[in-house]
Amino acid sequence: MSQYTRRSMLKGAALPIAGAFALPTLAAAIQEKTTPYQRPKLKITDIRTAQVLVHGPQTHVRIYTDQGIFGQGEATDAAVGAPAIIKGFRRSLIGQDPLNVDALWERMRTMGIFSGAQGGQYVTALSGLEIALWDLAGKATGLPIYQLLGGKFRDKIRMYCDTDMPDPLAPETHEKLQWVKDHGFTALKMDIDEARDPMRFDKVNWTASNGEIDRMVSWVKHVRESVPKEMDLAVDMHGRYDAATAKKVAKELEPFRLMWLEEPVPAEDIDAMTDIRQSSSTPIGCGENLYMRWGFAELLHKRGIDVVTPDIQKTGGLSEARKIANLAEAHYIPFAPHCVVSPIGTMASAHVCASIPNFLVCEWHWISRMDYWKGWVKEGEIIDKGYITVSDRPGIGVEMNEEVARRAQIPGTTWFEANA
Ligand code: MG
Repeated sequence: MSQYTRRSMLKGAALPIAGAFALPTLAAAIQEKTTPYQRPKLKITDIRTAQVLVHGPQTHVRIYTDQGIFGQGEATDAAVGAPAIIKGFRRSLIGQDPLNVDALWERMRTMGIFSGAQGGQYVTALSGLEIALWDLAGKATGLPIYQLLGGKFRDKIRMYCDTDMPDPLAPETHEKLQWVKDHGFTALKMDIDEARDPMRFDKVNWTASNGEIDRMVSWVKHVRESVPKEMDLAVDMHGRYDAATAKKVAKELEPFRLMWLEEPVPAEDIDAMTDIRQSSSTPIGCGENLYMRWGFAELLHKRGIDVVTPDIQKTGGLSEARKIANLAEAHYIPFAPHCVVSPIGTMASAHVCASIPNFLVCEWHWISRMDYWKGWVKEGEIIDKGYITVSDRPGIGVEMNEEVARRAQIPGTTWFEANA
């Protein structure tokens, strides 16, 4: 067909459609009439939740449809109020097509602009809901989520082990670090903030004394020397200390070539974070307490961090995490998501990590909860030698083993009950 003819045909075909249909009618016509590639037709019929206490309170979300399939998602950390917030979404979602994931997310977000949709429990609840929509979209189309996100850059997702060491100098630490090495992890994270440090002279103020800073350095030195030098090490301060302390610690930790120093100060003051980052060569990571792309935009633009660490089950969900990763990529910054959720949420995170070029490493934080971790999904253990192979099954690709998960149910809460 010549270019002239094709152009003429397209022009001829487009004009009557544009003239005959208003936009919603056109969208309906495309969905209803297009053949043979018709989209699956689904309607949301119910949304239910269950609350567990494992790594903090977590809310599992299920979205049911008129076609017998349901999607599952998970929200964490700021998830205490999630069931009530999700119940508030129900009326707007029932009857909707769940495959319009981003549009439904935007509708729920804008609906809540005057009731907290800028962060916290509202966005956390929305994150769990959005992940369930993606699981549903995958199951409806028969595709893994990474495929719906544009395909994958990698098959295996590198995980780092958060080591849960209350005192890294204690004898049991050796055993724990040996376990991390034996299980093939190539990176780990440790905490150095310590409320019970005897050299802490005030119970409220978090200006670290020199004694505290020496204790922090000795902890990092001990762990650094206990694992192979090729193993990457991240250090978390949990956003507790003040700016002067953060600068001193970042400087003192320079010889250890950290993967990142996490939240040396709270996340809110971008200028403070930027100042600390510029004061030393220690890379700064931050993100688990920031929400959506707007929480990261200025911090990235001002060069306030070296690594973004959003919590996907809290910051807005899979699409939002991907947008944050893309924003970071535009500033040559890697993406290393905070992740404390069950194998369901963790595999959901793996789909995002597979779909972006600037993925560095993803958190795994269940070393002290192995019984739960191994039994939580029917597929069993999903980490092999420090990596998760992203599932090729439709949706997230793993399903809850209720017998195990229900052992963690928060007493007095309901378990995926209708209209609870
Ligand atoms: Mg942290």
